[in-house]
Amino acid sequence: MQIIVAPDSRLNQISKKVEIIDDSIISFLDQMLECMYQNNGIGLAAPQVGILKRLVVIDCSDNKDIKKPLKLINPEITELSKNISEFEEGCLSLPSQYAKVIRPSKITLKYTNTEGLICENKFSGLEATCIQHEIDHLDGKLFVDHISKLKKNIIIKKLKKFKKKI
Ligand SMILES: [Zn+2]
Repeated sequence: MQIIVAPDSRLNQISKKVEIIDDSIISFLDQMLECMYQNNGIGLAAPQVGILKRLVVIDCSDNKDIKKPLKLINPEITELSKNISEFEEGCLSLPSQYAKVIRPSKITLKYTNTEGLICENKFSGLEATCIQHEIDHLDGKLFVDHISKLKKNIIIKKLKKFKKKI
C-alpha cells in the first residue's frame, strides 16, 4: 500500500459509501491498519491509499504495546459539541507538516462495524479530533483546509518541493 502525498487531486475526491461488507473489505481494513502502524500514524482513510470508499482505521492508544484499533465503515458524525478543542494535527499524506486545528471536542459517531452492525458511540479528546480528520478525507478535505490560506500555501509549497525529491 502506497500513501498518496498532497497535493494530489485524488485526495480531493468524495468517497463512496460501502454497500456490501465482504471479505475483501475486511481484509482491506486490516491492510490499512498495517500500513498505518508501519508509518506510525494514528489514523488512515481509504482515499489516502487511492481507494475512494468510506473506510477509516484509527488507533489513538497512547501506549504502543496496547493496541486499540477501530475499523469504521461508512462513519458519519451525528452530533458535534459546541465546545471546541485545539490539537496540533499531522497527516500521513502531508509528511512532516503540522498545524494547530480547532474542532468540536466531542462527537457522536454512527458507523458500521466489521460484523455489519450499525454502532453509535461518543468520542472525545484526541479520538474525536482524529475521527473528524479522517472523515474529512472521505469528503476530499485535508487538515490544511481548516487553517489560514497563508499557512496552507506554505505547507503545500513545502510538500511540492518534497515530492520533487522523491
Ligand atoms: Zn490525514
